[in-house]
Amino acid sequence: MENEIFVTKAILPSMEEYVAEISSIWETHWLTNMGAKHQELQENLKEYLDISNIDLLTNGHMALELTLQAMNLQGEVITTPFTFASTTHAIVRNNLEPVFCDIKPDDFTIDPEKIEHLITDRTSAIMPVDVYGNVCDVEAIDRIARKYELKVIYDDAHAFGVKYKGRGIGNYGDASCFSFHATKVFNTIEGGAVTFKDPTLQETMYELKNFGIHGPEDVSAVGANAKMNEFCAAMGICNLRHMDEIVLKRKAIVDRYRERLYGVKGLQLNVVQKDVESNYAYFPIVIDEKAYGSSREEVMQYLGTHHVMVRKYFYPLTSSFKAFHRKYDVLKTPVALHVSKRILTLPIYPDLSIEDVDRICDLVLQCKSVY
Ligand SMILES: *Cc1c(COP(=O)(O)O)cnc(C)c1O
Repeated sequence: MENEIFVTKAILPSMEEYVAEISSIWETHWLTNMGAKHQELQENLKEYLDISNIDLLTNGHMALELTLQAMNLQGEVITTPFTFASTTHAIVRNNLEPVFCDIKPDDFTIDPEKIEHLITDRTSAIMPVDVYGNVCDVEAIDRIARKYELKVIYDDAHAFGVKYKGRGIGNYGDASCFSFHATKVFNTIEGGAVTFKDPTLQETMYELKNFGIHGPEDVSAVGANAKMNEFCAAMGICNLRHMDEIVLKRKAIVDRYRERLYGVKGLQLNVVQKDVESNYAYFPIVIDEKAYGSSREEVMQYLGTHHVMVRKYFYPLTSSFKAFHRKYDVLKTPVALHVSKRILTLPIYPDLSIEDVDRICDLVLQCKSVY
């Protein structure tokens, strides 16, 4: 019987390490509301992410949502539909209008050449996604943002620990939102953070994640409840200690996938970007049915019958969600549409063995002739 392989598997410290980390909570009885663990993780992350301003939240989605609120934006936000529901929902839930820009075919990030003609006098921000940990064209986006005085908020849910030109990815744009969900490269069970340029946002974020409470008798904004609790922060403190080893293991897996699948006709692999220190978060492949001999659906099904679970990530485009009642035209982002119909992400997590990577590659390659 072949073992079942999932697309991802949450990292955990040893039970002993976690228990040691949380034991002080039984002395303080301080479970949430920015306690010692929260403060410690925040400081540790500043160092790891190589940034100066950060705020921790319950999840990556609330980081996106409250950051948009904190910046007091109006009108339209330019973003991409090739992302997780969260990016688009954060915009819509702030009563802002998403304007969908197409992506680049090689790294799947927003195509800066297509941003400018989407800008109107109602545009207030750009929300690009560093999808799969691939770094957007930050320089071009920065030039456009300056020219039109737009805010740039990166969805960096996939880009934890990524560096570009030697600097932490959170240093680009006005703010970057990270997710620490169980399925991500680094987790706090559920959790997230925003890093930002303007230090005055620190107080605003702190208040917005705690109902907008400014003082005991002073509620100055309509905030939410999005505070990271102490047990989640403790998980983050433990997991962060092991990040170097985790990233190295992920790299070995990506290297093996590339070795086995690079150059195969009909398969497009993720790009290796110049000047980028990757976190090896995902291993997406784009399958061209004509050249490969099998469709994305057929490959997915074949792997499934052999207990290898892969994901159509991202499919469908967020602009086509039923929730939006056909308000947006997916044909306006043809590259995103094309990629979303052909992409599959293969399993990757630190303790996935190289033997299992080989088995997955064998199965993918068998699809060239199976059907
Ligand atoms: C995971 C994810 C989010 C949301 O993060 P949560 O921590 O799950 O709320 C946002 N954007 C993208 C691209 C994601 O993958």
